[in-house]
Amino acid sequence: MLILVINCGSSSAKYQLFDVKKNRSLAKGVVERIGQAGSCRDHRAAIEIIVDTLTEKERGVITSKDEIGGIGHRVVHGGEEFTASTLLTGKVIRSIERYSELAPLHNPPSLSGIKACSEILKGIPQVAVFDTSFHHTMPRSAFLYGLPLEYYTKYGIRRYGFHGTSHRFVSEEAARILRRPAKGLKLITCHLGNGCSMAAVSGGRSIDTSMGFTPLEGLLMGTRSGDLDPAAVLYILEKEGLTFARVNDILNKESGLLGISGVSNDMRDILKGARGRGARAKRCKLAIEMFIYRIKKYIGAYQAAMGGLDAVIFTAGVGENNPWIVKRVAGELKEVVSKKAKFLIIPTNEELLIARDAYNIIKRRRDNAKSET
Ligand code: ADP
Repeated sequence: MLILVINCGSSSAKYQLFDVKKNRSLAKGVVERIGQAGSCRDHRAAIEIIVDTLTEKERGVITSKDEIGGIGHRVVHGGEEFTASTLLTGKVIRSIERYSELAPLHNPPSLSGIKACSEILKGIPQVAVFDTSFHHTMPRSAFLYGLPLEYYTKYGIRRYGFHGTSHRFVSEEAARILRRPAKGLKLITCHLGNGCSMAAVSGGRSIDTSMGFTPLEGLLMGTRSGDLDPAAVLYILEKEGLTFARVNDILNKESGLLGISGVSNDMRDILKGARGRGARAKRCKLAIEMFIYRIKKYIGAYQAAMGGLDAVIFTAGVGENNPWIVKRVAGELKEVVSKKAKFLIIPTNEELLIARDAYNIIKRRRDNAKSET
């Protein structure tokens, strides 16, 4: 069965077609700048382009869209309701719409992609795979903020965590590589991309993660501040007379590696910038030190939370391509973490996990339908 994986962002639609049984990716690509001049009008038009590309006469990898057995969508926010990947029904779509309030930048484009697929690829079953699901096993003590409890009950203010598909993928891979059952492992997974998050995965379950109510909390990221004292934000707000929208932009788009280095949000530029002398190089070095320091701090915290540590896994753009960052963290924590703890780099593959989940759910549904007839 072929599974088409769709990941819709606000202005892009990434896709990948998998033959899940053979563990093979047949085609992948991205439609960018959706809604801008020179690109397509909206997500519906993007899905049309994707289907046309896949079925193109000369270069397409399939001859008809009927060869697609299922579609897996990446959906960022599944609230507390979706603790696992799920078949998309009208009811599920309405729930995802409800969680748009918690993820206003992320859930609406996914919904556009889902709706476009149900029209263009009519009748093909669709599955939603949520970024938040893997972290549903966090205990209350880890997911609640120290705010009046009614904000949780009234508005769902709590830590949800994100990048769950990636943390799940690399933690399962780690168990395979270490040749040990996930059940007995205490792992720390570090997803270091533009957005960065870490998770404590004990016995295959996420018991804590660094992102929170939104992806802003935790590590120093490309453009996000990560952890800070909310009172600092209130102070800046008052001093500079900023609007909420402006503060939101500063925290999410102008902070982190970019805000500290003043050079870039891209680790490659910062590493290059740090090589020189002068004020610019100093700021780049500071950004790198802060980035590493926070990772170390979270490793210490998560080792304590799990009561042990078998391996720390690094993944995503920075994690997969910067062995020296991994070596530094490992070297500096040598005396701190358990002697048997391993430091591993494992490439993530969120799309493959989405395809596998979609395949398993759709196959189970088919098998059940067969056994009923
Ligand atoms: P996203 O969160 O957008 O999916 P990625 O996982 O692609 O991000 O990671 C983007 C980050 O990875 C950038 O900061 C980039 O500098 C870094 N990165 C990618 N390749 C390399 C490399 N070869 N060396 C250092 N950093 C890299």
